[in-house]
Order: sequence, then C-alpha cells, then structure tokens
Amino acid sequence: MTLLLNGLGVSRGIAIGPVHILERGKPESIRFDIPDNRVGDEVKRFRKAHRQAARHLRDIRKSIPGDAPPDIAAFIDSHLLMIDDVLLKKTPAEIIRQQKCNAEWALQIQENELVRVFDEMQDSYLKTRRDDVEHIIRLIQGFLGDENYSLKQRNKNLKGCIIAADDLAPADTIVFEHQHIAGFITEYGGPTSHTAILSRSFGIPSIVAVANARAHLSEGERVIIDGTRGLLVIGADNRMLRDYRRQIKLDKEHRKKLEAIRKKPARTRDGARITLMANIELDEDIRALRRHGADGVGLYRTEFLYIDRRHAAGEEEQLAAYRKILRAAGGNIVTIRTLDLGAEKEFDPAYAGPLAPNPALGLRAIRRSLKNPDVFLQQLRAILRASAHGKLRILIPMLTSTQEIGQIMELYRIAQRQLTQAKKRFDQSVAIGGMIEVPAAAMAAETLGRELDFLSIGTNDLIQYALAIDRIDEEVSYLYDPLHPGVLQLINAVIRAGESLKIPVAMCGEMAGDRRFVRLLLAMGLTEFSVQPNELLEVKSVIMGSDLAALKRKYRRITASREPRRIAEMVG
Ligand code: PEP
Ligand code: MG
Repeated sequence: MTLLLNGLGVSRGIAIGPVHILERGKPESIRFDIPDNRVGDEVKRFRKAHRQAARHLRDIRKSIPGDAPPDIAAFIDSHLLMIDDVLLKKTPAEIIRQQKCNAEWALQIQENELVRVFDEMQDSYLKTRRDDVEHIIRLIQGFLGDENYSLKQRNKNLKGCIIAADDLAPADTIVFEHQHIAGFITEYGGPTSHTAILSRSFGIPSIVAVANARAHLSEGERVIIDGTRGLLVIGADNRMLRDYRRQIKLDKEHRKKLEAIRKKPARTRDGARITLMANIELDEDIRALRRHGADGVGLYRTEFLYIDRRHAAGEEEQLAAYRKILRAAGGNIVTIRTLDLGAEKEFDPAYAGPLAPNPALGLRAIRRSLKNPDVFLQQLRAILRASAHGKLRILIPMLTSTQEIGQIMELYRIAQRQLTQAKKRFDQSVAIGGMIEVPAAAMAAETLGRELDFLSIGTNDLIQYALAIDRIDEEVSYLYDPLHPGVLQLINAVIRAGESLKIPVAMCGEMAGDRRFVRLLLAMGLTEFSVQPNELLEVKSVIMGSDLAALKRKYRRITASREPRRIAEMVG
C-alpha cells in the first residue's frame, strides 16, 4: 500500500532510496548519586566527553572544503564558540561537584536552565540558538555514552540513503553529506531550520516537519522524497516509481538548461532587455548573488542585520555590511532598503516598545524610522558612506504619503550635512525610491513617484493590505491571491505611473519570483524583477522564452474585453 505523508519541502528535487532511521531522540537522563570519593572522576569523565565533542566539531570544520558555501562553516563555527562557553564547559562540572550527580544529569540540569532562558526571550532567532544548545548537549551526551561515537558515525555506509530523523544537528547534517546521502526527512523544523538551510546549500532534496514520519517507516525500505511538493512517499507502486524516475531525469535536463543561461542577460525572444535582480537578506544570499548572475540587488532587507542581536547595528557595522554586499554585486546596483521593523519582523521588544494592538497597521517600517530619527539618521549615514564604494540606491519601505517623503528628505539632507562636516566621502546623487505596499500609495503612485527616483512594488504587503489578510495568519492564507482583479489593478496603476513619470518601476515581492506570473507581469509592462536568488534562473528562463510584443498585444485584448478570468489562462 502506498502512503503519502506531507511535510514542508525545504530543498527542491526528488530523491529515491533506502531509508536510514535515526532513533536518536532526546535521551532519557537519569540521576545517579556519585559518592564523595568519585566526584573528581565524574568531573573528569564529563571533561573528556566535552573535549571529544569539541574535537569532533573541529574535525568536521576541517573537513568542509574551502570553496563550500560559507554558511556551512558558519554553523560549525558558532557551535565551536558555544561549546567553549563557560556555560557548557565549566558549569556542568560545577553542578557535578555541588549536587554530586552524574555528568548526564548535570548536563540535563544545565540544558533545562538554558532552554528556559531562551524560551523566555520569545524571538525566533533565539529559538534557533536554543536548538544549538540542545544539539551541543546531545553531542556531549553522545560521547558520555560511547567514546567511539564519532568513529561510529563516520563509518556508516549511507551512500544513496535517505535519512529520517526527529531533527538534525548541523554537524550531523554535514557528516551525512560527506557520506553522499540522497535526502533528508525530519519530523520537526521549519523553512529556516538548520537542516533546511544546509540541505539547500548542499542541494539535497529535503522535507521537514513530517509529523511522526519515523513511526511509518521501516529501516532500509525504499522511499521517495518530493522536496518540491513536500511529499514523502512510502511503498510507492511501480507506476509511481517510473513517474518519479522520469521526473528526476527531466529535472536534471532542466537544471542543465538553466545552467546554460546563467551568464546570459535576461532578454526576451524579441530582444527586450529585462532587469533581473536579487532579493537578499542573509549571507547565503550574498554568495548566491554571484553564482546566479543577477543584474544587481533589487532589495536588501537591512532588518536582518538585527537578526542575531538584541540591539541595533551601529553605523560602522552597517557600513561594513553594505560594503560587503556592494563588493559581491561586482559593480551592479544594490538597492538598500531602510529598516522595515515591526509587524512580522520583530527582533527587539525593547526597541519596539509595547506591542501595538494591530502591528501590521501600526508603527512599522518607515513610520518607525521617522519616529526614531536618530536610528534612521545613523542608517542613512551608513548607506551614504557605503555609496562611496559602489553603486547603490535607497528604498523606503511602506511609504504612504508625500508628507512622509518630505520628512525623509529633510533627514536625508541632515545626514548629508553631518557627513560633509565629518569629512566623509559619499555619492551626492544617490537615487531614493519608495516601496509601494499600501493600496492607497499604489493608487496615488503618480503623486508619490513625482518626488522619487524609482518605485518598487512590494506585493507581499500590497496583497496583505489590499485583500485584508494577515500574511502570517495561516487561517486566511487561502485568500492570498496575486491574480485578484483588485490586486492587478493596483499593480497596473503603479506601472502606468512609472511610465508617465519616466521613472523605473520594479517588483520585489514574492509575486515577481513566481514563474507562473512572469509573463503576465511582462505583459503589464514590468521591466525590473527582483527575486530570491534561487528563483533567478527560473524567472530568467521564462523571460527568455517570451515574446514581449505578443504578450502585450494579448494583454491589451484581455483587459479591453474585461475578461479578467482569461488572465489565468495567460499566466498558465
Ligand atoms: C513586500 O512586502 O512585498 C516586500 C518585498 O517586503 P517584505 O516581504 O520584506 O515585507
Ligand atoms: Mg513589505
């Protein structure tokens, strides 16, 4: 019988292979009393396991090739730092001495304490840090239970296997990758979990959050992972296997085709050059930028500079981050969006103040920057100083009114004056654009655009506000429809405004990176797309296969005949 289990596909592609089940969940720690005269030995036992765990991590770190994506090494580096922290190196030994208990129990006490502290922080990034602590403690416990833990792990023959686990530590994920496994399934985790990020970096098909997967699996049985659809297939019949094998072949051919256009410009069949840029936020995206041959960065979400901290990044630190991206962009333009904190992007409750009754409609994005002019000025200065090192433009999130533009320009001039006085170099003619994310701003795009150098449509928020659906509320996600006629009219209004003002209009929301909508957007007259790095080649291939003039004629016919439903056919 065939069984299909759903999860979250976090790394695309299909893998077929025998499953290897990791039973390692949270080990049951039992407390033993240690007699006074053996306490010293128990501390030594803990220290030895700690040393072995640290060595294991160092060995893994050394095994990562120099040309591997930097985030892979970064995970292990952060674990190496953490394992050497007094809280994991010294405190458990103190607990053993004070409580006269076994090392496993001391680690358990310390884990409970650290997890409690992390949980109280209620911040998604720190939740990941909590997972890190758990992973490291699990590793030390592994060596306490078996000093050959490392050797046993490495010597398994897992080539071509699909690993099924509750969750995976980055170190395990890397060791498995070295063993050439075919895919991962985990019962926990989300799109930003370690397994998800690492499997994307390795290009290994993976599904996370497959609840109770292991209960349905037997060691060694053949399974199929469909990482694109987030599907785990157990007991597939011959027809299914044939279909999936064919799909693997097609995927391979498709990847080859995409590879061939990597260095080519995004030009339609009839010769129109479309600007295809990347949205970036994390280090892994910066690296991908070069790899995928983008025409620059259409959206750099600077709030992610705050993701691993509880305070704002200072001017120098921001400057260093912006310069790094300018370097990676290799002379292409980088669009730096000023802070878009608030609503779903909240990292620092102290900075945010009390939670607003309706955060998505509250003090977020540029509203928050204008309310905190010192923080905004600091960011403007950092961006301006970076402008001396490459081509950049500034993008203002969630712009609503011309009054806001007036306030922004005033602060911008102050930032310029401050830098001139401090004798800092900067480009005097940096372009300033606005994100069109508020429906009223879309309708008034011509009025706003008159005072700006470019516009960029943020469909994630524009759709949220136009259709009155909270973008993080799963209950209403079924209403999220980029093809809603109201949404299309708003997008159309912005593109037309850009044309009449002769200023560029880009789109940097998720809609731009969805290959199903690319031809429609081209037909509407969009000339700048900014998409996730891993979507770049897909979007480019659609652009290169399109005849722009024919699409525009078709679009005019559809809109003239007022048949919005036919739009669906057009994008299909
Ligand atoms: C958008 O709203 O479409 C957008 C690109 O901004 P973010 O997703 O960061 O809110
Ligand atoms: Mg937005």
